[in-house]
Amino acid sequence: MGVAINLQQYLSELEPQGCQLVAVSKTKPNELVLEAYEAGHRDFGENKVQDLVAKYEALPKDINWHMIGHLQRNKVKYLAPFVHLIHGIDTIKLLVEVNKEAEKNDRIIPCLLQVHIAEEETKFGLNNEEIHELMNSDRLNELTHVNISGLMGMATYTEDTDQIRKEFKSLKVLFEEIKSQYSFPNVEMNILSMGMSGDYKIAIEEGSNMVRIGTAIFGARNTPQPLI
Ligand SMILES: *Cc1c(COP(=O)(O)O)cnc(C)c1O
Repeated sequence: MGVAINLQQYLSELEPQGCQLVAVSKTKPNELVLEAYEAGHRDFGENKVQDLVAKYEALPKDINWHMIGHLQRNKVKYLAPFVHLIHGIDTIKLLVEVNKEAEKNDRIIPCLLQVHIAEEETKFGLNNEEIHELMNSDRLNELTHVNISGLMGMATYTEDTDQIRKEFKSLKVLFEEIKSQYSFPNVEMNILSMGMSGDYKIAIEEGSNMVRIGTAIFGARNTPQPLI
């Protein structure tokens, strides 16, 4: 298998650009994750809580697990003890729940707000207005066990690179806006998570500092996965 080789190739491209790599291992067996782990990689992403927990339990404990998929409030408790970064916060209610479970575990959990930048209706996330609403919420100050570390977005699945670039650009603008407008102790805004196998180059050109790459490292997924 070429996982280690693929990984090295991406890291040598991404690291000089100051971009972090989340290797998306969803649907992939533990052996492939271990192959990447043994090559020195520590940051992996999953989009289902059940898979995230199963992999956490089976694999070395110094892996940084990223929850990149849609997260339901009733499942937060399962990942709160160990999750490294939650990429998909899309309601204040979810953030409140993460805060509650983080407190139980005596942790501060870093979170990214998911922004809806794509044309497709199906993708989760907040629009610009809703992001500002959330940032202006009175409750935000009370959420001492979460850290809003940045934004995450997914571009439209299209061949139209101008469209993709436009969407990433808009996310970067919002990111800078939020960063300069809000200063709370629990808002850090240093991660801009955008870019996947097909569009990470454009994402980095537009200011991404964290890409989430699956198929280009691990190969095509074993079971069909909706890109949500
Ligand atoms: C699956 C997934 C990725 C990785 O997609 P690839 O095209 O395999 O690189 C990135 N981000 C999210 C949110 C995903 O669900």
